[in-house]
Amino acid sequence: MRVIAIDGPAGSGKSTVGRRLAERLGLTYLDTGAMYRCIAFAAIRRQIDPADPDPVGRLAATVEMSVIDGVVTVDGVDATLEIRGPEVSRAVSMVASNPAVREQLRARQRSWATQHGGGVIEGRDIGSVVFPDAILKVFLTASPEVRAQRRAKEMTDLEYDQVAADIARRDAADRGRADSPLVEADGAVSIDTSTIEIDEVVELLAALVESRS
Ligand code: C5P
Repeated sequence: MRVIAIDGPAGSGKSTVGRRLAERLGLTYLDTGAMYRCIAFAAIRRQIDPADPDPVGRLAATVEMSVIDGVVTVDGVDATLEIRGPEVSRAVSMVASNPAVREQLRARQRSWATQHGGGVIEGRDIGSVVFPDAILKVFLTASPEVRAQRRAKEMTDLEYDQVAADIARRDAADRGRADSPLVEADGAVSIDTSTIEIDEVVELLAALVESRS
């Protein structure tokens, strides 16, 4: 099983790099942030408080979700746009700090990888916890300004300041939680994407994967 793990904070370029690298190498791609967003979306939709650990943990065990080629469905409902909206973005770090949710999603991510013979998988704890034996672990970073500018471009309904505050709050929560916080995994290749072109990052990583295969 060939897993390439890409971790890093919001706006560090994980999704763009991950998608292009998967395409370049002919591998499938999994966005695990979308999975955490699905749980937050399902909780809001069922009027469950995202901070209430037991019902949210149960939800993570039972909800049906699919994340395929950027199209996201939750219990059969298309949630592609809603999972990126401000309501889900506000709730997602609460859901992601819930150990029962993390356990469920880790199991789903491992079974996805087994089914696909590996792939490019991005998130916050992929190289450190979910796939510590990945053939390549990558940790992407970028300056807070660059990260906020990237996200502000994607979220046309929000001002730059709101986006900057949202990602600063989520980063602090992701780095500070007790269960699988955002950290650079042992042996990860760390790249600051603030000033390097994304295509250059993809080429560099593709060459590293090829040299290890
Ligand atoms: O990648 P994205 O910004 O969409 O992730 C949304 C949230 O999901 C993150 O802020 C984090 O709280 C959570 N997450 C996580 N572990 C992962 C992927 C995402 O905790 N592997």
